[in-house]
Amino acid sequence: TVARLAPFATTIFAEMSQLAVEHDAINLGQGFPDTDGPQSMLDAARAAIADGQNQYPPGPGIPALRQAVADHQSRRLGIDYDPDTEVLITVGATEAIAAAVVGLVEPGHEVVLIEPFYDAYAAATAMAGAFRSTVPLVADGDGFVLDRDALATTITDSTAMVIVNSPHNPTGTVLSDDDLAAIADACIRHDVIVLSDEVYEHLVFDGRPHATIAALPGMAERTLRVSSAAKTFNVTGWKVGWISGPARLIAAARTAKQFMSYVGSGPFQPAIAHALDHEMEWVDASCAALERKRDLLSGALREVGFDVHRTEGTFFVCADPRPLGYTDGEQLCRDLPARIGVAAVPVSAFVDRRDNWSHLVRFAFAKRDEVLVEGAERLRALR
Ligand code: PMP
Ligand code: GLN
Repeated sequence: TVARLAPFATTIFAEMSQLAVEHDAINLGQGFPDTDGPQSMLDAARAAIADGQNQYPPGPGIPALRQAVADHQSRRLGIDYDPDTEVLITVGATEAIAAAVVGLVEPGHEVVLIEPFYDAYAAATAMAGAFRSTVPLVADGDGFVLDRDALATTITDSTAMVIVNSPHNPTGTVLSDDDLAAIADACIRHDVIVLSDEVYEHLVFDGRPHATIAALPGMAERTLRVSSAAKTFNVTGWKVGWISGPARLIAAARTAKQFMSYVGSGPFQPAIAHALDHEMEWVDASCAALERKRDLLSGALREVGFDVHRTEGTFFVCADPRPLGYTDGEQLCRDLPARIGVAAVPVSAFVDRRDNWSHLVRFAFAKRDEVLVEGAERLRALR
């Protein structure tokens, strides 16, 4: 392995899911749902296969899906993207992120991440031969906010790109309008491209609307917005994502994407187009169910004795096990599957400054209620 990729040999998700399988543990680690998405979407994929849509689709994605993505964003966010030049279908959000970073950031240039950061941002930055700097989240009551002083000193004229992620994995934080405005302000001042990872855009709880940095004044022209069908429609295995933004930035991502995967998987694209056009009520119901699951798991963790952070969106809740006598979250996550039959993910896997985050553990609640109840029951053994 080349030196710049050596630190990324095994992802924490694969490692913890492997431990979960070995020990027949309840997997509250890797973030994927354990139920299927809307029936009409599943039927549409079957129909596409039966209908012979099994050869290479167009490189940027089938026109119907690009149109559905553009329509959806116009309806929900009031942003109009040209489906031909300003929308690119990718192999999940993962490829969208890699293609945008590799297509737009020169070797040796700087990418700024919010810490904790989803592991793919650091890996894509390394693949581009660029380097990363981070702006940390800091605890604020039972939630997190952006460290504004760090933001002011970290984003400079030498920053090429900032990767924003709200709702945020792993903390479940939804960045406040003020935090988004502060990032936007710095990016305009220093002429920086923003890659906004919004894969959890439909999983915002407590009646709050989703806010995108792309909609702030002066931002549309410098923001690439990434989303994915994975979390919205419970199809993490279909690997259909997309990226939207100004044509010149999309063209750069498309150039890289052509040689990462060439094209995305054919028959799933019409199915996701159908779902975006017709199944948003299913998504609303799914979000309401997840909000209840958040409460179920947060309450259970609190009862066991964890200090539980507030989750405002995503599949995830972060819990501090120090009141139970555990100071090392990573060690705890390595022990949990064998010891009590539960898998979780250490937040330290998402950071550079490990000291500030070494205690914290992330649990995923996108699971059937009976699975969450059984997981909570097993966690009681930690008391
Ligand atoms: N970004 C974030 C923040 C994620 O949590 C994930 C995991 N779903 C991804 C990107 C990758 O998405 P996909 O599965 O569509 O590649
Ligand atoms: N996004 C999911 C998570 O954070 C899955 C990640 C993965 O398997 N790479 O758990």
